[in-house]
Amino acid sequence: IIVGAGHAAAQLCASLRKAQWPGAITLIGDEPHLPYHRPPLSKTQLDPDGDSELKFLRAENFYAENEIQVVTDTRVDSIDTAAKTISAGNQSLAYDKLVLCTGSIHRLPPIDGIDLPKVFTLKTADDAACIREAARNAKRAVVIGAGFIGLEVAASLRKQHIEVTVLESAARVLSRVTSPDVSSYFEGLHRMNGVDLHTGIAVSEIRPKEKGLTVLGPDQIQWSCDFVVLGTGAQANSALAKAAGLEVDDGIRVDAYNQTSDPSVYALGDCCKQHASLYGKVLRLESVQNALDQAKTLSSVLIGNPVEHSALPWFWSDQYDVKWQIAGVATGYDKVVLRGNPVPGECFSAWYFKGDLFIAVDAINDSKAYAVGSKLLKTGKRPSPKIISDLSKDTKEILTSAIKSVES
Ligand code: FAD
Repeated sequence: IIVGAGHAAAQLCASLRKAQWPGAITLIGDEPHLPYHRPPLSKTQLDPDGDSELKFLRAENFYAENEIQVVTDTRVDSIDTAAKTISAGNQSLAYDKLVLCTGSIHRLPPIDGIDLPKVFTLKTADDAACIREAARNAKRAVVIGAGFIGLEVAASLRKQHIEVTVLESAARVLSRVTSPDVSSYFEGLHRMNGVDLHTGIAVSEIRPKEKGLTVLGPDQIQWSCDFVVLGTGAQANSALAKAAGLEVDDGIRVDAYNQTSDPSVYALGDCCKQHASLYGKVLRLESVQNALDQAKTLSSVLIGNPVEHSALPWFWSDQYDVKWQIAGVATGYDKVVLRGNPVPGECFSAWYFKGDLFIAVDAINDSKAYAVGSKLLKTGKRPSPKIISDLSKDTKEILTSAIKSVES
């Protein structure tokens, strides 16, 4: 039984059947849809005139053809690990192996009025449909939180000429995921595109007014708008696992085989937390690629060919005409080497080092830097900061020689 019908779950179904898993597979999800692509929700699918049709991860007939029983619109309420059963509504189902793919849920800051109508979060296709509807005929929006999703929403709304204010409580945007240079690049990019962006602003209250909403910051500063989108971060959706007695610590703890503290229960994707050997620490990642890679690894484990999960994390974000690609995780770095000029309109990359160890790269409209950075990280060949910071050679040359120098 697979609980949660998102990216990890759909991949696990496909990988298990490809690996000749002989048993029955039941996929239970609480959304009314078959598993679909989530990243477009904050990008192309917010445009009221754009293509809002859901992009399914697998065609409808895939599930029947592969003998996968899909149950949508159904929430799994509890797990009995001793009896090896789950309950969903008034049904009880038995499992041999249970895989939790429950994703993440919003982190909601303590803001009065956060549950007012026209204050939206964005996680599901239905959330995106509500925002799309609110954006139709709207003049002004406030986005609270300037992480990936908040900024992608701001960019999508600006494309529709809606006036957008972004309010971020931290001193800079994207502070959880990147370095100050990259943050200030994105601040410049959004301001250049007409976003009214404020950092260091903790919103205390949202009030209804005759038409629309008023958002209150410190010292009674106010912003009026037609609707608000919360991009205030996510946390693991792990309550089900916790109630079942599984080990949970800001995510369902899993080992290198994605097994939880119960040997018959596994967890994948946004909901789980796993040791990442490259970074020497336990990480919970929110990325499509992580969900897919973990699902592929788990299919091997479940058919009796256990391999440890060790894929390189990578991420992407689209804002306006900027493609941001990230290889590795910029965590615990003490040195950043920039190649190129971090100003809007230019392409550049930021290379992260812990001591002399290369750990991650941010590539902004620079797919070459991303490709080489991820190749170096995947193959374990690590150029020193000196090689990367040699600006006398062009990017392609320096990166090619970086690979050669490490290989020799
Ligand atoms: P999900 O795909 O979230 O699926 C979890 C599913 O489980 C959900 O449908 C949930 O409703 C269901 N569920 C939860 N509890 C239960 C229960 N008890 N019973 C039944 N069903 C349950 N990542 C990127 O790499 N690049 C991007 O550009 C990007 N953009 C994003 C934009 C948006 C708007 C969002 C919300 C996310 C984005 N992400 C992006 C993150 C990415 O979508 C997630 O990392 C990925 O979906 C994780 O897959 P998952 O299977 O772990 O969880």
